[in-house]
Amino acid sequence: MSLADWLIIDRVPEELAPAGRTLAKVFQQDPAHLARRSMIRLRKWWRGGWLDFPQVVHLETTNTCNLRCVMCPYPAMVERRIRPQGFMSEDLFRGLVRECAAAGTVEKMALMGLGEPFLHPRLIEMSRVAKRAGIRHVFTSTNGTTVNEETAARIVLESGFDEICFSVDGANSATYEGVRSRGAYEAVVRNVERMFRMRARWGRSRPHFVVQLLLMRETAGEVERFVSRWRPWLRLGDRMSIRDVDRFGGLVEDRRVRDPHAGRVRAPCKQLWRDAAVSWDGKVTVCCKDVYWRLSVADATKQSLREIWRSAAWNRLRDLHREGRYEALPICRNCSEWHT
Ligand code: SF4
Repeated sequence: MSLADWLIIDRVPEELAPAGRTLAKVFQQDPAHLARRSMIRLRKWWRGGWLDFPQVVHLETTNTCNLRCVMCPYPAMVERRIRPQGFMSEDLFRGLVRECAAAGTVEKMALMGLGEPFLHPRLIEMSRVAKRAGIRHVFTSTNGTTVNEETAARIVLESGFDEICFSVDGANSATYEGVRSRGAYEAVVRNVERMFRMRARWGRSRPHFVVQLLLMRETAGEVERFVSRWRPWLRLGDRMSIRDVDRFGGLVEDRRVRDPHAGRVRAPCKQLWRDAAVSWDGKVTVCCKDVYWRLSVADATKQSLREIWRSAAWNRLRDLHREGRYEALPICRNCSEWHT
């Protein structure tokens, strides 16, 4: 792949020198977002690595899904009835958005969790509420199966989404449908292409689009084809994401083709000092990979997010990480995606 290709792909090439990788990452960012993010990080550094509110907030609008993907913990959640399914209420959502907007530390708000976000009938309104409240970067990730003509127009004209990621895991029907059970490759490709056309038709620059291929045994041979398939569609601010598939702390079979952390010494995971994830019914966990909410520390229908973020229960988990006792936490124990 050429350098031009790498500049629009999320995963920077390991063969680049560290300075080249930093440069590639900078090119991949929206300058306004990068500037604001840098200010918040400077503030965090100034305060000794601690802010009194999260920087990234994940709101699980729903945990229902229309697909049964092989690399996702969702099918097991349904079969074993691990969590009740539902949709986030408007009251809970608006309360959380108000709190996040007032805090001034939130760099990103992700309207997503263990489910297909666009199955929530009010997702577009939710994004608009978050944007109007002043959240700088609102994004979601979708399987693209339900984004029809009408939804596409509303996304572009009404939602205010800054970024939407489309999961298109494969460069042909056989691979895609083998991985994303119940999905139809041609239909999804049509939906994603329509999104690009719709944005161009209305002359909008937002949302930025990310077309994603999860790198795993089944898709590893299709990276080049995927890149040439989607490259012509991308405009300024769009990206392709070629990302190693998650293991969700060992909840799913390991389908990775490489271990990005191989040979690295484990360190406390910055996720616990940066992110918060709220389930559709208000449970708060410390990490978006904890999709069964096993590390749930509190309930956002009973306490504010700020109180929860500073609570003894959450600090206990942080202490376990500081002490290197990762095995004490059921998800972190087998996690291979820890952040430093
Ligand atoms: S170690 Fe893994 S599971 Fe634990 S907080 Fe970090 S990313 Fe999440």
